[in-house]
Amino acid sequence: MAPIIVIDAGHGGVDPGGGNSPQFTEKAMTLNISLYQYRRFQELQIPVALTRSSDVTLQSEERAALVRNSGAKYCICNHINAGGGRGSEVIYSIYGSAALPRLIANELEAAGMPNRRVYTRTLPNNPKQDYYYMNRDTGSVETVIIEYGFADNPLDADKLAKDWQSLAEAVIRAFCEYADLAYQPPKTAPPKTGGGGNSGGGGNAGGGNNPPGNNSPGTGGGSSVPDWKQEAIDWMFAAGLLTNEDWRSQADKPLPLWAEAVILKRLYEKLKP
Ligand SMILES: [Zn+2]
Repeated sequence: MAPIIVIDAGHGGVDPGGGNSPQFTEKAMTLNISLYQYRRFQELQIPVALTRSSDVTLQSEERAALVRNSGAKYCICNHINAGGGRGSEVIYSIYGSAALPRLIANELEAAGMPNRRVYTRTLPNNPKQDYYYMNRDTGSVETVIIEYGFADNPLDADKLAKDWQSLAEAVIRAFCEYADLAYQPPKTAPPKTGGGGNSGGGGNAGGGNNPPGNNSPGTGGGSSVPDWKQEAIDWMFAAGLLTNEDWRSQADKPLPLWAEAVILKRLYEKLKP
C-alpha cells in the first residue's frame, strides 16, 4: 500500500546538519524524531514511509526523488535550526497551503515550543520557484519543512534534548487533525528525561507508570521492543553516547565491557565542568 505520509529525517551520514548543540547533533535528533513518528503512525495504522531509518548519507536529488516517487500525499521534513533565533519554524511550498503548517505550529506551541514563523520562501531570481529543494523538487507531494527549534538557543536546545518526544508527538496530532484521521495518544507515555535517568534534575512527576520488566509484546505488526525501551536507546543516540547504528535495533542484547566503558567515558567527558 502506498504511504499517505513520508517522513524525512534531515541530513545524515557525512552531513551532520547545522543544528548542533553540545547535547545533540541535528542528524541524530532528526532521526530520533522521525523514527518515533514512524512508529506512532504505524501504531495509528496510518500508512507511512521514511526516507532514511539510519545514519546514512542521502544526496539532495536522491532524497527529493524518494519523496516524489513515494506515492504519498504528504511529506514532513524534520530539521533543527541554528543561527540565533528562538522557537519553531514551519516552511511550506508557494503552491501549497498554510493549513497543515499552522496546525503543526500550534501543536508544537501547545507542547512547549513557541513558534517563530510559518512561511514560504522563493528563489531570489525566480519568484515562481520555492527556495528549498524539498518544497521545490518533490512533485505533487505536499511537503512541509519543520524546524523544531534552535540548537544554539539554550531554551530550545534544552527542550529538544529532554523532551523531543512531546514535540514529535505534537506533529502526529496536527497531522491527524488536518487529515481527519482518528488520533489516539501513545500507549506508553514518553519519559520526560529519557529513560537513562542521569540527566540531572526534573522529577518524573505524573509520568505513565510502565514498570520495567513488564514485557508486553508491544503492538501487533511492529517490532516487539516496547516504546519505553526504544525511547531510552534513541535518547542515547541523541545525546551522542551511542553512535554505532547497529545497536539501535538490539534493545535486548548485552553490551560488551569495552562499549560500556566508551559510553561511561563519553558521559564523563560531557559532565566534566
Ligand atoms: Zn537541517
